[in-house]
Amino acid sequence: MAPGDVEEDQFRADALAFLEATLPKKGVRTDSTSNGVTRARAYQACLAEAGFAGITWPIQYGGRGLPGFFQRIFDTAARGFQLPPRSLEIGLGMCGPTILAHGSEEQKHAFIPPLLRGEHVWCELFSEPGAGSDLAGVQTRAVRDGDTWVLDGQKVWTSGAQHSDFAACLARTDPDRPKRQGITMLIVDMRTAGISVRPLRQMTGDAHFNEVFLDGVRVPVENAVGDTNGGWRVARTMLAFERQALSGMGSGGGGKGGFNALVALAQARHLTAHPGVRQQLADLRIRQMVLRYLAEFEAAKRRSGTSMGGEASLLKLAMARLVQDTADVAVGLAGMGAAAWDSSDIQGGRWCAQLLSAQSASIGGGTNEIVRNVIAEQVLGLPREEEGDIIAPVASDARRHGS
Ligand SMILES: Cc1cc2nc3c(=O)[nH]c(=O)nc-3n(C[C@H](O)[C@H](O)[C@H](O)COP(=O)(O)OP(=O)(O)OC[C@H]3O[C@@H](n4cnc5c(N)ncnc54)[C@H](O)[C@@H]3O)c2cc1C
Repeated sequence: MAPGDVEEDQFRADALAFLEATLPKKGVRTDSTSNGVTRARAYQACLAEAGFAGITWPIQYGGRGLPGFFQRIFDTAARGFQLPPRSLEIGLGMCGPTILAHGSEEQKHAFIPPLLRGEHVWCELFSEPGAGSDLAGVQTRAVRDGDTWVLDGQKVWTSGAQHSDFAACLARTDPDRPKRQGITMLIVDMRTAGISVRPLRQMTGDAHFNEVFLDGVRVPVENAVGDTNGGWRVARTMLAFERQALSGMGSGGGGKGGFNALVALAQARHLTAHPGVRQQLADLRIRQMVLRYLAEFEAAKRRSGTSMGGEASLLKLAMARLVQDTADVAVGLAGMGAAAWDSSDIQGGRWCAQLLSAQSASIGGGTNEIVRNVIAEQVLGLPREEEGDIIAPVASDARRHGS
């Protein structure tokens, strides 16, 4: 069916029928034992099979080619259901859109359809021990050898690397140029010889991200996204997609489901009549809803090509503050129960885990300070921050295996 022939009411009815057949409704208890990545892949395969993957993505790469409001219809319908974890978000929300924006035709045909079918999980090999906020200072080297680039270096904080099939990797391809002009983005097959992935244990007990060591890793030259040494432009596109994807995740603070759990907690602790508590809850809910609508608005602008880029940073900053304020309110409501809970209480560890993980919201995808700099420069038009253009030479002990 051509995109123009898709009728809105029929699409909504089909989406609801699909969701009812595939997912449990919110509030229904489930006993799923499979891990989040497996569930996310299986759900994505079902979406693709039913024609709901890549609703707005180009038809020639496996998408549906529909206008943005069809995605909103689907997302609105999906709010009533228990979606699997967003384990494919780095691929679907960041790497895929970046390849669509800057990749070659061959790359789009090779990587977008399997991504939409849930066959490939992607990760982002950007940050390094000496290059986080100062990302343009990446020192992972890519040296040309015939038809391949040979990668050597270390990445860190790589979310989901242990489950990933492919990565978008920033590497220095010309160390003699100013730092932003000597970087290339490469698509790396994570099963290539020379890659070792070491999970990092967080204070929550999870191992969400990893150190990744690249030791003589060979990458075909045709896997460069955009021009050789033009990777900074590509990286900036991906960072904007990342900030947008992060701000859209559950609208900060766990979305409506998370908010309902907070209200239930206040009720259980007999605090709902307290004016201060009522104000805190109202404030969180208003900010959640404003953030959700702004994230939808920004997504629509990006799809129509009218986004300026920097606005995604506003959303990301608002999301980080909301996540942390939500965790503070939750711990205040739970009282001592947030630190020590009865083993029979299935909600028991929830508030503690929320408090511990909330700290990462103001770091991942760019720290609050860096995001404020981006807003100052790209949204408010203030002068650029002064900084050096030279990269420091790679120290001999820069590759701290396992330390
Ligand atoms: C949950 C999570 C997931 C992540 N996933 C990934 C991933 O998948 N892939 C990936 O590549 N990276 C990932 N990261 C890494 C993340 O992008 C970096 O941690 C982040 O960019 C900050 O870099 P850094 O940790 O090196 O801190 P640094 O850059 O060392 O910063 C330290 C402090 O200095 C401040 N600072 C630095 N420069 C300035 C400045 N110019 N002005 C004002 N303040 C400044 C920072 O704001 C910060 O407070 C993840 C991080 C988290 C928390």
